[in-house]
Amino acid sequence: MPAIECPRCFTELEYTGEWWTGIACECENCKGILADNDWLESNLIQEDYHRLRARVFRGSPGEILCPYCLSVRPRRPIGMTKFTVSPGGKSYEIDGCQKCGSMWFDHGELVPYEEGGDDEPSVDGAGKKKDSGGDLDALDASIHLLDMLFNIFLSF
Ligand SMILES: [Zn+2]
Ligand SMILES: [Zn+2]
Repeated sequence: MPAIECPRCFTELEYTGEWWTGIACECENCKGILADNDWLESNLIQEDYHRLRARVFRGSPGEILCPYCLSVRPRRPIGMTKFTVSPGGKSYEIDGCQKCGSMWFDHGELVPYEEGGDDEPSVDGAGKKKDSGGDLDALDASIHLLDMLFNIFLSF
């Protein structure tokens, strides 16, 4: 696995445990998440995946370079395209790469789902499940990402 740098902090991203397919990694510092094309394609419903891809091509130039293209041979600086979706009145900005299909999700885009928990059984205060180790955090991150994507597709 190549070392991939956070496009915001320039620190090395951590692979978030066993994801099903493809590469998804998280920045320990800013908590942004990068998901590569394989991951998105295999974890999303085909139709949603293609709609999301189409949005990348209609987006406007973003401020960050694709961390995946910068890290994987041949290393190339590819500017990502940003687009905004607004599910349920919340706005999310997503950066996508037209070349490799990776997408970058800033931590802010995940926050509403960390605090919301609409479809999770409510747990008291600091009642975060602590019964297993770091793998749970990785799983949480993937679930947050899937939750967020699910909500985004509702807005299309
Ligand atoms: Zn970062
Ligand atoms: Zn790329």
